[in-house]
Amino acid sequence: TDAIRPLIAGNWKMNGLRAQAAEFDAMLDGAAEATGKADLLVCPPATLIAAFADKARGKKVAVGAQDCHPKASGAHTGDIAAELLVDAGASAIIVGHSERRADHCEDDALIRQKAEAAWRAGATAIVCIGETQAQRDAGQTLEILRGQLAGSLPESSTAANLVVAYEPVWAIGTGLTPTTQDVEQIHGFIREFLTSRFKADGARMRILYGGSVKPSNAAELMAVKNVNGALVGGASLKAADFLAIAKGC
Ligand code: PEP
Repeated sequence: TDAIRPLIAGNWKMNGLRAQAAEFDAMLDGAAEATGKADLLVCPPATLIAAFADKARGKKVAVGAQDCHPKASGAHTGDIAAELLVDAGASAIIVGHSERRADHCEDDALIRQKAEAAWRAGATAIVCIGETQAQRDAGQTLEILRGQLAGSLPESSTAANLVVAYEPVWAIGTGLTPTTQDVEQIHGFIREFLTSRFKADGARMRILYGGSVKPSNAAELMAVKNVNGALVGGASLKAADFLAIAKGC
């Protein structure tokens, strides 16, 4: 997996007023230096995608979205189709984040449809999986992940159109992270699943780690076998932290 170029993806969640867009400008300014080792993607709230994509044109930061509706258009008040996100400038769409699985009761079948919607619109799908604290305590981690992988990854996933993000729910926004041994075991398990299902493409798909990644732990986590980048929440809101994480790859 050494040949897989890492991706550092920022998930701004429901944060980002237009007045705070200067952080994104700072990311654009520092990107050339930070992308020696990794690709950069920022997923702001949908309200900022078009403005950020316009600013990022010709720069080394891609802009993405945090969710999409499975349908291409129609009577779905308040929802946003992948086609609309791509039209605004998104080149990747996160689907199945644990906050959406929990807050909006999203299941694997819906997430698979959303991943296919991202492709239909021409975007890469970043599919999130991860166990809760209770599932971990019950020793069910691998079984939960196997179910999520089997259910949320579409049949025609390739190394170009799909990124998997492993995000233990108990590590998101908590400051807690698994040990590097745990990350190695779980990413190895995910790699085996991907290789057995998608063959050569599965061997080249990016598997991101997410959950309390920050500049002080990024290099250690990114050095783990089968970790091909990070999905970063809180620390992606600050340009200095986000760029430092990319430089740590
Ligand atoms: C996330 O929600 O995708 C995430 C990884 O959040 P944080 O980095 O804040 O734990």
